[in-house]
Amino acid sequence: MTRVALVTGGSRGIGAAISIGLKNAGYQVAANYAGNDEAAQKFNAMSGIPVYKWSVADYDACAAGIKQIEADLGPVSVLVNNAGITRDAMFHKMTREQWKDVIDTNLSGVFNMTHPLWGGMRDRKFGRVIIISSINGQKGQTGQVNYSASKAGDIGFTKALAQEGARAGITVNVICPGYIATEMVMAVAEKVRESIIAQIPIGRLGEAEEIARCVVFLASEDAGFITGSTLTANGGQYIT
Ligand code: NDP
Repeated sequence: MTRVALVTGGSRGIGAAISIGLKNAGYQVAANYAGNDEAAQKFNAMSGIPVYKWSVADYDACAAGIKQIEADLGPVSVLVNNAGITRDAMFHKMTREQWKDVIDTNLSGVFNMTHPLWGGMRDRKFGRVIIISSINGQKGQTGQVNYSASKAGDIGFTKALAQEGARAGITVNVICPGYIATEMVMAVAEKVRESIIAQIPIGRLGEAEEIARCVVFLASEDAGFITGSTLTANGGQYIT
């Protein structure tokens, strides 16, 4: 039986690598995205993976999107909560909107996506929920009080929900990437990039495919005894 995997923010950056990694591992993949139609169409043409547009910050839109995907492809058994945004500002300058946008997407978005799928996973006695948090949710980061709080929240979410899912055959795990060579990171000035790399003991940025391989492993049958865990993939930059 081909399992269906749903990747939020699955059309660009780390999410695109995750979608492709899961497809190559034999899953039927659906990729969600928020609004960048051009990137989504390009991704669809390149990968053949169907794309679905809605915001994970909107509970009703998530429920409707999931319903559509399940009608098209069948029940979702692997959920990758990857969609995430930054709205950086020093705390004394941070607006309520910057706070709310980041919490709504990065933390409430994980609730909004996982909650409508949970009952089906429980009924079928199988599920994999994988959340992409961040090194900055573990260690905190200047200018990212909103982002660090949302990503730390994702880790707490994982630890609590893993306990509820265990007897129902559902594992819940979180991955904390360090700096990954996505368009966003590659777009910063070379000097800034070099100062980031200087903080990474392995001496380079991570690749999106390296995070994708973590996801493929956590989604597999082989990872059935792993739940509630935080998988750190940061080149040694922050060792917990
Ligand atoms: P990108 O900005 O490259 O891509 C983000 C993806 O998420 C896009 O597909 C985007 O859709 C989608 N998205 C954004 N907001 C929403 C929303 N409200 N609803 C649905 N989809 C949404 O991000 P990255 O690949 O860099 O990051 C992916 C994840 O990894 C994030 O959670 C991020 O916090 C985390 N992370 C990234 C690191 C890095 O170095 N890049 C390091 C540590 C963690 P659209 O294309 O339509 O805008």
